[in-house]
Amino acid sequence: MSQTLRCEVCVVGAGPAGCTVAAELAGRGIDVALIEREQVPRPKCCAGGLSVGARKLISSDVSEAMECEIKALRVSSVGNREVSWHEERPFMYTVAREVLDTSLWVSCIASGARMIDGQRVVAAENTAGGVHLTCATCEVDARIVVCADGTKGTTACQLGIVVNKDVALGFAYLVQKPAGWRRNDEVELILGLADATYGWMFPRNDYLSVGVECHDRRVDWRATVACLFRHLGLENEPVTADCAHPIPSVRRPYKQAEKSALVVGDAAGLCDPLTGEGIRNALLSARMAADVVAAEVRNAEPDIRAYEESVMTRLIPEIEAGRRLLRAMKLLGAAAMVGLRDEDRIGRACARLLRGETTYAGLLSSALGVSGVLRILGEGRE
Ligand SMILES: Cc1cc2nc3c(=O)[nH]c(=O)nc-3n(C[C@H](O)[C@H](O)[C@H](O)COP(=O)(O)OP(=O)(O)OC[C@H]3O[C@@H](n4cnc5c(N)ncnc54)[C@H](O)[C@@H]3O)c2cc1C
Repeated sequence: MSQTLRCEVCVVGAGPAGCTVAAELAGRGIDVALIEREQVPRPKCCAGGLSVGARKLISSDVSEAMECEIKALRVSSVGNREVSWHEERPFMYTVAREVLDTSLWVSCIASGARMIDGQRVVAAENTAGGVHLTCATCEVDARIVVCADGTKGTTACQLGIVVNKDVALGFAYLVQKPAGWRRNDEVELILGLADATYGWMFPRNDYLSVGVECHDRRVDWRATVACLFRHLGLENEPVTADCAHPIPSVRRPYKQAEKSALVVGDAAGLCDPLTGEGIRNALLSARMAADVVAAEVRNAEPDIRAYEESVMTRLIPEIEAGRRLLRAMKLLGAAAMVGLRDEDRIGRACARLLRGETTYAGLLSSALGVSGVLRILGEGRE
């Protein structure tokens, strides 16, 4: 018979969301077990962009993972227009994602969480005392479960939390950095690639992180990626690694908590629909979850609905605004480049967004001078 582990809180999944919630709770003296299906360190498909806004939400030492400091943004289109902005202060970093996630895992251990890797949660059910989890070779009884098992996670659904989401596909490549590469503080976004929302090129220490985010599954992504590589002049450079993974953004009707379970990060579909940035909301939702769980877990009847309210107030409005902006970008297509060319404030606004100094809502209420975009946004429907 397999062993049963008992804990106050069980966290499923050791990405940025799961590690953050586990470390926060363990740091407050709560008995937490974190269960990860892979052996740590584990790979994670990601472009490796960490916004300054996300960095501010990490309290542990992740310096080992940090690579380039980004202060410049170039936007180009396959029609060969391009525009760039330079900032005094960084608005983003690039990171080695495996190293970042391992650092977060190590800080969880230091905060006192019980960490179990190489153990997949295969079934979850609500019980009178909380939640019962069946894992590959053990059982777990917990008062509260935090589902942090990423885009493809099924734990929340098994516990009655159905997350409706749009799913884009991200295709990411690591290309050996060409000799003499000097643009180590600049990221490039590429527009006008078939129906792909955008392509990216982020500098890393030894590589260029290159990829596309596709919102339409009918798109011939191989042709799109080939077009991106040609546009960047990288078609003859060796590709060291590649991967593809869904990027989820939640949509109505919203549900993030039920009985003794709540859902955070990608499992809750909290990526920005416009940019695909997901680490920041993974960290934010984890912190919000930790606050509610810490306050409730020792009550006779824990009530975790306040988590849902926090997500609805702080994260959902931005996700909805991001979706409207995405719709506007698709409608404008290449014409968006014309607006960008004349609009210095847009570059500054992007930097402020990434630093967490403003929000989409804040930007839309300021006079950006792109009245056509604003009109389209106003007409956008959820
Ligand atoms: C191609 C691509 C590029 C991206 N680039 C960026 C970027 O540059 N910047 C950015 O901010 N975001 C980026 N993202 C999004 C970002 O990677 C995610 O938003 C982020 O990883 C979410 O963190 P998480 O902790 O919620 O989930 P994850 O990091 O996915 O972690 C979930 C964990 O749960 C584990 N798990 C799953 N099922 C089980 C189970 N049954 N039992 C136990 N464990 C389980 C998994 O092994 C995994 O370790 C990108 C995504 C893609 C696909």
